[in-house]
Amino acid sequence: MEICHSTFKIMDCIFCKIANKEISTELLYEDNLVVAFYDIKPIAPIHVLIIPKKHIDSIADLKENDKSLAGHMILVAKSLAEKLKTAEGGYKLLFRVREDGGQEVPHIHLHLLGGGPLKEIIGPK
Ligand code: AMP
Ligand code: ZN
Repeated sequence: MEICHSTFKIMDCIFCKIANKEISTELLYEDNLVVAFYDIKPIAPIHVLIIPKKHIDSIADLKENDKSLAGHMILVAKSLAEKLKTAEGGYKLLFRVREDGGQEVPHIHLHLLGGGPLKEIIGPK
């Protein structure tokens, strides 16, 4: 039962569909492990999402053998920040994790937020 459930979730996952090119999205970057694309509802002048091609629900579900994938996502964010010319001024990297963390899409994604000074808005609801 558990296998059926998770297979259904992955088939239905919007970020898997973007990574598999089932949904056409302009990709800023792609390699064998990750893709990156602009967020559809940007909250900063530069707002890019870096996602693994492999479906993992959240950072809370990472396994020991995902270490290099997680590190790779951060290095891709760093190099996109340079490419998009926000590295010198600075930027934020954000992972939301599960419900209390505000995660809406249950497929790991790293937000790269930049393009100018950004507010600190995190606090209890
Ligand atoms: P989170 O709240 O951390 O789960 O972030 C999910 C992000 O995915 C939000 O910033 C959405 O605007 C973004 N998003 C959802 N669907 C798409 C899509 N089809 N293309 C690009 N960004 C998307
Ligand atoms: Zn997925």
